[in-house]
Amino acid sequence: MVILSGKGVCGGIAIGKMQFYKKESAAITRYKVDSAEQELKRLELAKEKAAKQLQALYEKALAEVGESGAMIFEAHQMMLEDEDYLDSIKNIISTQKVNAEYAVGVTCDHFVQIFSSMDDDYMKERAADIKDISERLVKAFQEGEGGFVLTEPVILAAEDLAPSETVQMDKSKILSFVTRQGSVNSHTAILARTMNIPAIIGLGQELLMEYDGKLTVVDGYSGQIYIEPDEDILQKLQEKKAKEEVRRALLLELKGKDNVTKSGKRVEVYANIGSAEDIGEVLKNDAGGIGLLRSEFIYLNKNTFPTEEEQFGIYKYIAESMAGKKVIIRTLDIGADKQVEYFNLPKEENPAMGYRAIRICLTQKEIFKTQLRALYRASAYGNIAIMFPMIISVEEVEEIKEIIEEVKGELDVLGIAYNQGLELGVMIETPAAVMISDLLAKEVDFFSIGTNDLTQYTTAVDRQNPKLERFYHPHHPAILRMLQMTVDNAHKNGIWVGICGELAADLSMTETFLKMGVDELSVAPGMVLELRKTIRECD
Ligand code: PEP
Ligand code: MG
Repeated sequence: MVILSGKGVCGGIAIGKMQFYKKESAAITRYKVDSAEQELKRLELAKEKAAKQLQALYEKALAEVGESGAMIFEAHQMMLEDEDYLDSIKNIISTQKVNAEYAVGVTCDHFVQIFSSMDDDYMKERAADIKDISERLVKAFQEGEGGFVLTEPVILAAEDLAPSETVQMDKSKILSFVTRQGSVNSHTAILARTMNIPAIIGLGQELLMEYDGKLTVVDGYSGQIYIEPDEDILQKLQEKKAKEEVRRALLLELKGKDNVTKSGKRVEVYANIGSAEDIGEVLKNDAGGIGLLRSEFIYLNKNTFPTEEEQFGIYKYIAESMAGKKVIIRTLDIGADKQVEYFNLPKEENPAMGYRAIRICLTQKEIFKTQLRALYRASAYGNIAIMFPMIISVEEVEEIKEIIEEVKGELDVLGIAYNQGLELGVMIETPAAVMISDLLAKEVDFFSIGTNDLTQYTTAVDRQNPKLERFYHPHHPAILRMLQMTVDNAHKNGIWVGICGELAADLSMTETFLKMGVDELSVAPGMVLELRKTIRECD
């Protein structure tokens, strides 16, 4: 038996076979070929396939996000036909008699080096494009689309997992996530909690590939994993798992009960979700509504922009499933650790403070309008509210409202129904938003405090960096003062305020939040009943 320790980011016990996650982009190996002619033919076929994909992406983007968003695919098509690039690949194949993938890899490295060393910023950025088309070309050599497929429920082990990788997996086949690296506040950890899947991060390099296929027990509470466990450990953890199931069953008795303290103070308890798939957990745990749908996970789950129709279908389904309960949908909050290839976001020095979230939406208006149209259309089918991430100014809210008016106008012309009284809110997750919360409160119907980012930006501690975890304090007095200030400014202006960051689920803080006057707490679905229990025990 091998025991490894890391940090549990979602409690629970999982027992099953470990499987290592294999990234799609396999390393390129070099091998000699008998016929250079044959390799050149392979190159031609791969190029045709990649060109077709780019043309399809161009057309889709043109229809969905307009010319500016589609231009990148046109540029990639042109690069794919670039004579210098192609001649270099062909030359390597012919002179060295090696496989075409290798020739693409070497050419890519060479061109990336040239572009990266240029003074002109625009030319420097072309290095990323060269990488992109080369990766596409290499993938095109492989039969089919490839991808990582799980055939049975497993404990998924990985170096680290990006949110885009996590959301694309078949959740019904994942018993647990265990990673060598990772950070407690990352979106992968948040996703594990949302899905209520036991997860441990930071197990280090001792998590060996050779454990692939071995029986493993994951204890998300203690942060330990047991590979090929002894009989008595296996039995102990099976008992712990059974006890946990009994405790969960007891919590279910709180279904249908009110979230009121002993002294009669009521607070709404809502759930945070990332997709329509999470609705089952929301209903099972009897959340009073959805306090945060991280809509960007819908985008992360795709290889191209989700269409208005697709989004409308998802939002409508969620609104209808919640049968009149509030469903707060946050508009696209992409960027930082949530990267999607097809957005072609530039590499940045400080992505957490970079081109992300509402900044992308206000710059690439067509992407934003597509989402808003889908949201407004879906609002006719339930109690949808919309909120906006990363707000720092009143001007941004004014600009958003202008765009909303355009969207409403377009729907009116087409005679499409929507909720005229749809509530609009902003996330309070930057210190700037807190400091002007008195002004913002005059513009919107509610606030939702994002303590994850608010902690990061207020204390200047990167939430993604595992080395900084001991400095990351959502309980910092500066944060608590900011929460109080936000609540006071909201109430002075007659609007309600909730917390949707991970701190909302910290049961040691529940009483403090109630005293502050917070109106709503939104937590992972698996935490809803736990929080209800704590509220009911408060004086
Ligand atoms: C937050 O920042 O607290 C939040 C709820 O949003 P996210 O974790 O998705 O950044
Ligand atoms: Mg945030």
